[in-house]
Amino acid sequence: MSMLRFKVVEEAFKHKAVGVEEPSERPSEYFAKYVFNREKMFRYLPKKIYDALVDVIDNGVPLNREIADSVAEGMKKWALEMGATHYTHWFHPLTDGTAEKHDAFIEHDGKGGVVEEFSGKLLIQQEPDASSFPNGGIRNTFEARGYSAWDPSSPAFIVDGTLCIPTIFISYTGESLDYKTPLLKALNSVNKAATEVCKYFDPKVKKVYSYLGWEQEYFLVDESLYAARPDLVLTDRTLMGHDSAKNQQLEDHYFGAIPSRVTAFMRELEIECQKLGIPTKTRHNEVAPNQFELAPIFEEVNLANDHNLLLMSVMRKVARRHNFRVLLHEKPFKGVNGSGKHNNWSLGTDTGVLLFAPGKTPSENLQFITFIVNVMTAVYRHNGLLKASIASATNAHRLGANEAPPAIISIFMGKQVSEILDKLVTTTGDDVVKFSGKEGFSLGVAQIPQLLRDNTDRNRTSPFAFTGNRFEFRAVGSLANCASAMIALNAAVAYQLQEFKRKVDDLIVKGEKKEHAILSIVREYINESKNILFDGNGYSEEWKAEAARRGLDCKTSVPLIYDSYLSPESVKMFTDTRVLSKVELYARNEVKWEIYAKKIQIEARVLGDLAINHIVPVATRYQSLLLDNVFKIKSLFPAEKVDLIAEQDMEVIEKIAGHLLIIKEKVHKMVEARKVANKIDGKREKAIAYHDTVAPFLDEIRYHIDKLELVVDNEMWPLPKYRELLFIR
Ligand code: ADP
Ligand code: MG
Repeated sequence: MSMLRFKVVEEAFKHKAVGVEEPSERPSEYFAKYVFNREKMFRYLPKKIYDALVDVIDNGVPLNREIADSVAEGMKKWALEMGATHYTHWFHPLTDGTAEKHDAFIEHDGKGGVVEEFSGKLLIQQEPDASSFPNGGIRNTFEARGYSAWDPSSPAFIVDGTLCIPTIFISYTGESLDYKTPLLKALNSVNKAATEVCKYFDPKVKKVYSYLGWEQEYFLVDESLYAARPDLVLTDRTLMGHDSAKNQQLEDHYFGAIPSRVTAFMRELEIECQKLGIPTKTRHNEVAPNQFELAPIFEEVNLANDHNLLLMSVMRKVARRHNFRVLLHEKPFKGVNGSGKHNNWSLGTDTGVLLFAPGKTPSENLQFITFIVNVMTAVYRHNGLLKASIASATNAHRLGANEAPPAIISIFMGKQVSEILDKLVTTTGDDVVKFSGKEGFSLGVAQIPQLLRDNTDRNRTSPFAFTGNRFEFRAVGSLANCASAMIALNAAVAYQLQEFKRKVDDLIVKGEKKEHAILSIVREYINESKNILFDGNGYSEEWKAEAARRGLDCKTSVPLIYDSYLSPESVKMFTDTRVLSKVELYARNEVKWEIYAKKIQIEARVLGDLAINHIVPVATRYQSLLLDNVFKIKSLFPAEKVDLIAEQDMEVIEKIAGHLLIIKEKVHKMVEARKVANKIDGKREKAIAYHDTVAPFLDEIRYHIDKLELVVDNEMWPLPKYRELLFIR
């Protein structure tokens, strides 16, 4: 009997909800307790320094050394009072997650003792060894050193006694080696471009913010069961496992009550998040069993993304206190819904106008149409790139599966907006756009209802959907750093708005009335990009064929999808907006290809080991029991009865033999394919080889293992089964 599996199942059943200590203070009091936010800055910094720092944060004024020293002093005082002993520069390397190197707050005092030390220099800059992080060859050509530099726009915070300072991470020669640097550049670029366009409508606009509200989906698995699944431990997903008789058919999980162990976990997570200033708001069950979701109130993109990265690490920690492991993989279980991280994204002005929200006046509505259409055109022109920005070895399992957006980017606009766009292009001139008196003009279409949100029939099959006052980029994966998608999207929209502005200005110079000029370019854009709009069922086969006819990017191989980053249009867009240089783009793709190949390599190794050392021996043992049984039947019963009595055992014996044969053969071939792939020098070619020649074996081998699971004695099966992983909580 499989001792380990039954032992862990028993343990898992015994796990009870862990008590959560409710804070004695109210949420408004403990919210951001561990964050050096403006309130603390005000308290711990001299007024003059506080004002200067706010200017740095709000207006991007350069930071001088004197201010930095004073800020560091105040920050240190606060951190020591909060019990912090260490500090770290916290950054986002090109792997998943975050990196930190802790230093204690102590320095020699010159008298044989130590003093708590933290200067402006340490706050502003550190030199982590860039060679320990993926850099796509940048360090080979230049220098191993890398710099991390303070990002004052995201506040420092304390986790487990360590003061974490959000930083960017760049090479000695200034190339970005992280996600944050290009993200900040993309946000800056979209701010500038959108502000210019806003001035057509309201000259008072000085700044445009980009907002992000992510929805984090995840699975929880009991920790004991997790420990008995080497595939989960090493790859974050199950590489084998037959469907459970029941999974999500009844959809009872989505509407059901949250299990008490999970409620306790969620509650503690919420409290921890709020202390870190993450404005978590909703929590609920998701469609699949043991799948859940958490979403905060949206924030400015850079901060929202720091919060998401922080959340993912806090989640992992809190889960362990509740005897759970959290799975952030996009598709931990085959045949069960995957996890995404919908990126709700919008632009809003410093005057408080959400640019994707229809307004009350005709002028506001022209502004609304202008921004919607520019987004539409940017997404159309860069649809391949946007797909590349969310593509990964792990997300590939989710996209294109039958319950997730396809690997094709399209926009769901909803009936009302689509009708308006249609009307704008099918009618020309003044029957749609009436210019009248002081009001300027009217859009001819009846007032665009302000509350589109309630009216936008939610199309869950669209990877990029308009939802009333924002777009929801649904293709983003649960494990991803949102920055990847946000860099591509904000940069593409910035680039688009720059072009729009140039074209409109040209017409105005030629004597066109402003509104006419705007509408004429808007019409041109709608005509060019209407092929990106699709309101139908994105999961259907017809859509794939239709999308190909429309010329949208339909590639499904992740290594090839990454090529879009290096297309002439992408390179031009990224370099013109100064978000990423050509060197950076090439280096980053090297990293992407390398990570892709490594992930498949690890999965292949793990599956090979599980197949040969866990499954094959057990199935062989069971087969031998059956053989034994048949022998005994033969020795006891007369020949004419043997056939009948032993027939079924004989069939199973043959079945097992068949599967075992194929499994061994495929594992052998997979190893050979890996050997060939490993010898390939180029990162791109190696990733392609892993995709084309190694990855297919994962599915093929799994198929036969899953068949064995159905016939081998349950008591002997070594790995926790889907019904145990998905339903014990
Ligand atoms: P749903 O599941 O219906 O899409 P949720 O409430 O789960 O909605 O999540 C919506 C997310 O979108 C939240 O994070 C919310 O703060 C965010 N959001 C709402 N309005 C905006 C906006 N204008 N810009 C960006 N994010 C937004
Ligand atoms: Mg949503």
